[in-house]
Amino acid sequence: MRWALIGASRIASSYMIDAIRAQEDSDIVSVLSSDTDRGKAFAEANNIPRSYTNLAEQLNDASVDAVYISTTNEKHHSQALAAIAAGKHVLCEKPLAMAVTDAVEMVRAAAQRGVVFATNHHLRNAGSHLAIHDLITSGRIGRVLSARVFHAVSLPEHLQGWRINDASAGGGVIPDITVHDADTIRFHLEEDPQEVVAKSAVSGMGDGVEDSVMSVWSMPSGATVQTHESFTHRFAGSGIEFHGTDGSIFARNVMTQEPVGEIRLVDPDGETIIPFQNHNLYVRSLGLFDDAVRGTGRPSADGVDGVKSLAVALAVREAAQTGKAVRVDYGD
Ligand code: NDP
Repeated sequence: MRWALIGASRIASSYMIDAIRAQEDSDIVSVLSSDTDRGKAFAEANNIPRSYTNLAEQLNDASVDAVYISTTNEKHHSQALAAIAAGKHVLCEKPLAMAVTDAVEMVRAAAQRGVVFATNHHLRNAGSHLAIHDLITSGRIGRVLSARVFHAVSLPEHLQGWRINDASAGGGVIPDITVHDADTIRFHLEEDPQEVVAKSAVSGMGDGVEDSVMSVWSMPSGATVQTHESFTHRFAGSGIEFHGTDGSIFARNVMTQEPVGEIRLVDPDGETIIPFQNHNLYVRSLGLFDDAVRGTGRPSADGVDGVKSLAVALAVREAAQTGKAVRVDYGD
């Protein structure tokens, strides 16, 4: 598969280029940047043959099968529509768009054009989360009563650009981290949050956007979910818990890009450490994307998953801004 990168981003250079190249018969042929010099430097540093500043020209390359979009969030929608119109398969970063209606349009356009469209939600690819999912779906903790997500981190200085000061580029902790938590909860509970309440805050980093948020979600099954996302918590550590009628799952340091963490199951038999695989999350995501393109599988998170995680995040933001309970609008 021949890939074009839309966006000379850090996530591409830190994780995705290696993950693409880890797939059999995969190659990266070009990168798009809005800045000629940055594009050239990025291409050279990452051994990519061509850089473009014009998307139409980049997409005009008939040898390109798929694009990976990792520009700032406000650009995903138009760039994805252009790539789809050019007949390219699309792996798009989260959040898919700034509005649910735009994300729905992207997914529908891909379906109409017959190309694969996926969302790069990495967490559901983690060995830790796959093990948690197995515990829940095999009934090890019985009926799930509640879940808690701890995803308050310390945003490293090199990532403190548009994320903390540019609402028009999709900054803020809600589009950045709450979307991932929404996807992870949906993955584990296999149901979609119905209604949310929330409080957001600026706690030392955000400039015009929130840098912290806490929310509570109600699920169709009757389970409740409590989440905490932040950019400003240096020592909090991450985790996720599921509490059921027959047991509880305590997972620590698993809301991360790395294949690390610890999972404990507590049930009437006592406490058990649950083992899990430590493969690279992004390599697995890319492998499943390749399978989907070949027609032998489906992406780990598809376009609908991306629409839904965005819908939950935007409901959380609206709830925080209005102080009211908000029903999640999935745009269907
Ligand atoms: P970056 O800030 O690294 O890149 C975003 C854009 O900023 C690039 O497309 C680039 O524009 C521009 N840019 C990059 N470096 C510079 C610079 N030195 N000076 C000026 N502009 C620059 O973003 P991230 O990699 O952190 O995030 C990109 C997308 O990926 C976002 O949608 C984010 O939500 C998502 N993401 C997803 C993760 C996941 O695990 N799924 C993890 C991290 C991010 P241009 O392309 O025009 O050169």
